[in-house]
Amino acid sequence: MPTLEQLETKRERLISELAQVSDMRPGSLVGRFRKCGKPNCHCAQPASQAHGPSWSLTRGVEGKTVTKVIPPGSAVAQTKAQIAEYRRFRKLVQELIELNVRICDQKLEEGSAQSVSKKNDTRRRARRRRRSGS
Ligand SMILES: [Zn+2]
Repeated sequence: MPTLEQLETKRERLISELAQVSDMRPGSLVGRFRKCGKPNCHCAQPASQAHGPSWSLTRGVEGKTVTKVIPPGSAVAQTKAQIAEYRRFRKLVQELIELNVRICDQKLEEGSAQSVSKKNDTRRRARRRRRSGS
């Protein structure tokens, strides 16, 4: 089992990694092809390719789906990188939480061990005091 110091060192590393998180956003990016419906358009031909892809980023906010249109071009790759960064951030946060739980558990155990010996000290001191008082 790692020592408290080892866990705390790992926590410092995680926090400094978290401090370097760059642009990020949650959501899933979906590219859609569609037929515009104009009878004269090339997409009306059965063999023809539809328009697109048009990209949208969706995510759930308070039970509702929020959609953000992402313009084609470099913004698509940028958004993909931002989503990847968000996943990395979430993973780091989750790791940090689990690590803190372990640190708190260890401190709890050390703390209860300390308070037991402290209790013994007071009892000893109290006995001594009683004896000297009589
Ligand atoms: Zn069309």
